[in-house]
Amino acid sequence: MTLNHDDWGKVARMMSKRSLWMVHFCTGCGAMEMPPVMTSRYDMERFGMHAMATPRQADVFLVTGYLAVKTLKRVVQVYEQMRDPKYVIGFGSCTINGGMYWDSYNTIKDLSKYIPVDVYIAGCMPRPEAIIDSFLKLMDMIDKGEAIGWKKYHKYYDQYKRNQRMAYSYRLDEVEDIKEDDAK
Ligand code: SF4
Repeated sequence: MTLNHDDWGKVARMMSKRSLWMVHFCTGCGAMEMPPVMTSRYDMERFGMHAMATPRQADVFLVTGYLAVKTLKRVVQVYEQMRDPKYVIGFGSCTINGGMYWDSYNTIKDLSKYIPVDVYIAGCMPRPEAIIDSFLKLMDMIDKGEAIGWKKYHKYYDQYKRNQRMAYSYRLDEVEDIKEDDAK
């Protein structure tokens, strides 16, 4: 049997979804839920996931809560050091809409306007079961070729950069939605 380009893509995705290394960079209160997820109670290594000290060898970036503008700069630096394909999971209400910091002058409201987010976990704060569920969701998306946030970052780079610049200068009310065209 000869495998074509698409077949090899499926094989690569099938293997990579079971070997996800995550950046161990925690922001906000959601980080407190990671110790039970990583240790014997929930044991995320049974899914092939474990923490990696450097973003250069990591596949998954967990943003575990609220982000001040200063922290956003570090998050963008870390994300850009990761190699493609790379995936982002946003923890809790704070990454979705600012959560309890929705009207703060120096806290960003919607993470997906600055870097692409593949999976969000609702809640404040999300329980370990919800975090494990998000890992399984991400694996399923990788398998189906639907975890394509990293491609969006290349395609809409100018828009992401514009929003990052607006945030860095505390002009959060000028940050816009990423306008996607219909072509994939
Ligand atoms: S969503 Fe709740 S638990 Fe998570 S960072 Fe925000 S305030 Fe903390």
